[in-house]
Amino acid sequence: MSLQMENALPDGFTFEKAQNVMRGADRGIRLWIAPVEAENQYQIQLYTDLEKSSDKNGFLEWLKTMHQDADFIRRAEYNGSNLVSVYVESEGDADKENLTTAMHALVSRCEASGVHNCCAHCKSDGSLHAAAVDNAPLLLCDGCLSQVMGRMGKARVRKENPLLGIIGAIFGVLIGSLLWIGIGQIGFIAGIAGFAIVFCGMKGYDLLGGRLSKFGIVICVLLSCLTILGAEFVSMGIAVYQEVGKAYGITLADSFRVIPDLLQESEVVAGVAKDLVIGYGLAIWASYANIKSAWHQVGEKPAQHTVVRF
Ligand SMILES: [Zn+2]
Repeated sequence: MSLQMENALPDGFTFEKAQNVMRGADRGIRLWIAPVEAENQYQIQLYTDLEKSSDKNGFLEWLKTMHQDADFIRRAEYNGSNLVSVYVESEGDADKENLTTAMHALVSRCEASGVHNCCAHCKSDGSLHAAAVDNAPLLLCDGCLSQVMGRMGKARVRKENPLLGIIGAIFGVLIGSLLWIGIGQIGFIAGIAGFAIVFCGMKGYDLLGGRLSKFGIVICVLLSCLTILGAEFVSMGIAVYQEVGKAYGITLADSFRVIPDLLQESEVVAGVAKDLVIGYGLAIWASYANIKSAWHQVGEKPAQHTVVRF
């Protein structure tokens, strides 16, 4: 049996159907009442900062014993930072009366101990607004509310710009290929930079393009494949130049021109093949999880963050 929120609504309170929560105030203290279906209870929520009360310890002691005052009050507690909760067992038709009784008791004690509402985020006690952030009821000050709204707004407008994304991806794979060439120069297997090329490409697309889409992932993978070939080619050209360039007095451009001839030799082909196999292999192996998660992420609808100000 689910809790009958509408029937339990204390006088003067409003039932917010979309968030399934009741909100209102008792003698100036603003409260939320949220259902705890699993335990067949209601949770009366009071956002406050007990540090601001001169009678913090007295109030906490009283909270601990509050359940002794009425059998429908299961327990009352403070979360140590910003929320006092009173749990009221649902008894069907008596809920409205029980909630009202529990609320009155809580508010009376608040008055006696100088406990008042505070912003749930920064704990200031300026002007406060009732709001629901991702359906969670909160009490927020002006500053925190506009901050939350601004953050959610930005998250929504983060749109993809494919052209900038491609430019970013090109920059990314070029940076990755520098690593490939660099590693090749120090005589190491350049292929281990294959991962860096894919990674930098996707990062570049994401940074400049605003968002990595499926289109972006495909572009990055294609660019990376081409770049790995290109990087290996450049790496070879530089190696040739360094080894024989000075001795024979040929230029860097000449060194590149002899590459096709060099590729006739099986020894060279074996070396290049080793680099490329390792390069593509590592790129695929190391990027697989990355690409898979990015692919799934873009497949999902962007998380629907909501801020409702009551
Ligand atoms: Zn605040």
